[in-house]
Amino acid sequence: MKTNTVIQGVHHVTATVNEAQADYDFYTKLLGLRLVKKTVNFDNNSVYHLYYGDKKGTPGTIFTTFPYQDQGVRKGTEGTGMISATAFSIPAISLEFWKNRLENVGITVVVSQRFGQQVVWFRDPADLQIELITDDTDTRTPFVTDEISNEVAIRGIHHVTLWIAQNTWEAVRQFLVAEMNMEEVAQEENRIRLEVKGGQSGNKLELLRADADTPRGKNGIGTVHHVAWKIADEAAQLALRHRLADELGIEVTEVKDRKYFRSIYFRLPSHQLFEVATAGPGFDVDESIEELGMHLMLPEDKEYNRAVIEAGLPDIQL
Ligand code: ZN
Repeated sequence: MKTNTVIQGVHHVTATVNEAQADYDFYTKLLGLRLVKKTVNFDNNSVYHLYYGDKKGTPGTIFTTFPYQDQGVRKGTEGTGMISATAFSIPAISLEFWKNRLENVGITVVVSQRFGQQVVWFRDPADLQIELITDDTDTRTPFVTDEISNEVAIRGIHHVTLWIAQNTWEAVRQFLVAEMNMEEVAQEENRIRLEVKGGQSGNKLELLRADADTPRGKNGIGTVHHVAWKIADEAAQLALRHRLADELGIEVTEVKDRKYFRSIYFRLPSHQLFEVATAGPGFDVDESIEELGMHLMLPEDKEYNRAVIEAGLPDIQL
């Protein structure tokens, strides 16, 4: 397989959350990410799609949310088949800074160790499990704010954790290694870490092996909807789609135009939803880098309906 036709690392992580303002305040003001795009869910225009990341929204730094408050969406439940946690990478020196910053606003924090790294665990306003993991090999340039300096700022996504039922564990491991350009790099108790080969920071994935009696999770508010993996371009994406759909018989969507990237979607044997997204064209396709996130951006074919769409969305104080 040519190297330009394979997965290169995480592109973004997308979660279903509750209230838009609480979500915005948490990820920008408290965690210090930049809102790089304010748009709507392209499949449901009455809900925002908020994208957070570094200054430009570089793939691998992007965390996105659908704030589904008052839209009749149930609360999700944790369990197998779900992405159980999202980890962002931080410099080791910043551990106390983050612990104190979170505790100062009343958030319960648990510090532990995994694969020789310190992990700060907590929940976001929608009950999502978030982790900050120390990784001094991560040299990505972070977005900084008045309160969060370059020394301590979040570098980007480190990994997500997939909670895997025992009866699909081997199939998932084999699939990731054979088809997703990953290799197993560490094992600890009931958890393994994989890395996308040749990837830069933001190239990791962890699998958590469930106990026999762990219930299956359900999608809904407070759960991660999917993880997206970066691929170089549309030609590589089509080659991977051909491999998955035509050679392996996996159900894969058609290529969807997400304006800032092109995407295909499929499920793992363990049920988690994977997206494969092109690296470009990027978030500056419809507004300048300086103005990213400041205005509600819509797909061109929805502009005619802007007044109605805006009236149906809650206000967010930036
Ligand atoms: Zn996505």
